[in-house]
Amino acid sequence: MRRGRSMVNRCNLCKENEESADHILIHCGKKRELWTLLLSSFGVVWVFPALVRNLLLEWKIKGLGKKRSAVWRLVPICLFWCIWGEQN
Ligand SMILES: [Zn+2]
Repeated sequence: MRRGRSMVNRCNLCKENEESADHILIHCGKKRELWTLLLSSFGVVWVFPALVRNLLLEWKIKGLGKKRSAVWRLVPICLFWCIWGEQN
């Protein structure tokens, strides 16, 4: 059976996946690269959670200095902000 255009909005960037916040913010093509780049700049190897909610819950790294961990905490907020602004 052919699948017609469903009720689900497709992501307008990759046209492949459902346009969910999780997809747009952390999974869609270039975003994923951005996250990976960012994490590696902190020297972090991280298993990527599927959901934004989990990402924020797990956004803790032990052993960062005080200054770096302050920056680290701001990273997802800034990135979401940028991506969201770009999207709209
Ligand atoms: Zn996409």
